[in-house]
Amino acid sequence: MERLERNDAYRTLGISDKVLSFTDEILPTLSAAFARVDEVAEFNQARVIAAMQKNGVNATHFIPTTGYGTNDSGRDTLERVYADCFHAESALVRPQITCGTHALYLALSANLLPGDELLSPVGAPYDTLEEVIGIRPSPVSLMEYGVRYRQVELLPDGGFDYEGIRAAIGERTKLITIQRSKGYAVRPSFSVAQIGELIAFCKQCKKDVICMVDNCYGEFTEMRDPTDAGADLIVGSLIKNPGGGLAATGGYVCGRRELVERCGYRLNAPGMGREVGANLGLLPSVYQGLFLAPTVVQSALKGAIFAAACYQKLGFSVVPAWDAPRCDIIQSIELGSRDAMLAFCRGIQAAAPVDSYVTPIPSPMAGYESEIIMAAGAFNQGSSIELSADGPIRPPYAVYYQGGLTWYHAKLGVMMSLQKMLEAGEIDL
Ligand SMILES: *Cc1c(COP(=O)(O)O)cnc(C)c1O
Repeated sequence: MERLERNDAYRTLGISDKVLSFTDEILPTLSAAFARVDEVAEFNQARVIAAMQKNGVNATHFIPTTGYGTNDSGRDTLERVYADCFHAESALVRPQITCGTHALYLALSANLLPGDELLSPVGAPYDTLEEVIGIRPSPVSLMEYGVRYRQVELLPDGGFDYEGIRAAIGERTKLITIQRSKGYAVRPSFSVAQIGELIAFCKQCKKDVICMVDNCYGEFTEMRDPTDAGADLIVGSLIKNPGGGLAATGGYVCGRRELVERCGYRLNAPGMGREVGANLGLLPSVYQGLFLAPTVVQSALKGAIFAAACYQKLGFSVVPAWDAPRCDIIQSIELGSRDAMLAFCRGIQAAAPVDSYVTPIPSPMAGYESEIIMAAGAFNQGSSIELSADGPIRPPYAVYYQGGLTWYHAKLGVMMSLQKMLEAGEIDL
């Protein structure tokens, strides 16, 4: 029988020889960048295992609970594992937290009272937070309850405007929200070291100000998380990095005990905080997902580096550059037109294990102002730690590529995006 080689499998999936030779030329140049990603993953794998061992995780912790979920030792142990993993005093990790936006709303609404001021020193927050805060008027927004909001823009070079921040921190400033990942903005994401400097500065301006980090997409991309750099609270989604692709739903808040306790009351009811909440049988996948998260993030980072290298070579503007340090799993690629965004997303979709036959089209979406295109064929709906690409249809027509539970799936996604771009006449190889 004829000996098969790797590229035969890609040809079967519809990848042309042009794309194969283009990508085969790029891959060997990425080895040093991949080696850095491997080292971070190895470190974080040990960090997660240590947190599980310290808390004596065992089979009784995987037992489902229903109803009030009182005395749920699996839930309570999971929260101690998260707290230890992120070097925090306490954690709230629940399937009842619907998504990242919900987790952020919990942390904000539990810790801001009428008359308090919220400050974002890193420019506009993630789109869905505009309604949470009330920047776009919305029922039940923080502003409706009398919480004020201020924002200090980043400097033109993406740095922090320390003078502006000092001037904006006042008597009413109660909580400072720092978004680690760029989200749908063309700006750099912040490293934990940069976030640490910003937090230190804010605490210098006002000693007791609460510093919260929107940690979405950042977990396990570095050896430290913002709780190691002075953050009082970190917040994220379980269908992103820390769920490892297995957690079916949920969100987390980790940090100082008194602040996390308040989130428990906000999630449930005053007087009935973290001690209630059934786990509904979801815990095995949340534990196992956390266990897998460091290597899943490793795959996603390799995919992002590969995507950056390919599109940078074709002349597109990418953030971050392929060889730049990574502090989240997002890769933005400015494709410059609606049609190019559509072609790219068709490629990501066509590479998926689920819903590969679907054609992604732009549409309005709850919480977002512009039309959004999303490509994803995920086992968990909306899971963006699984390979996905999305973006608002507005200039500069940047697509945000992220995720990939395995490096080989991420690689196929990038190759398929190149194939569809080639077929649509958007690139020439
Ligand atoms: C994903 C994300 C959120 C929350 O989004 P959900 O879709 O509600 O989970 C918030 N901030 C950033 C930076 C994000 O990437």
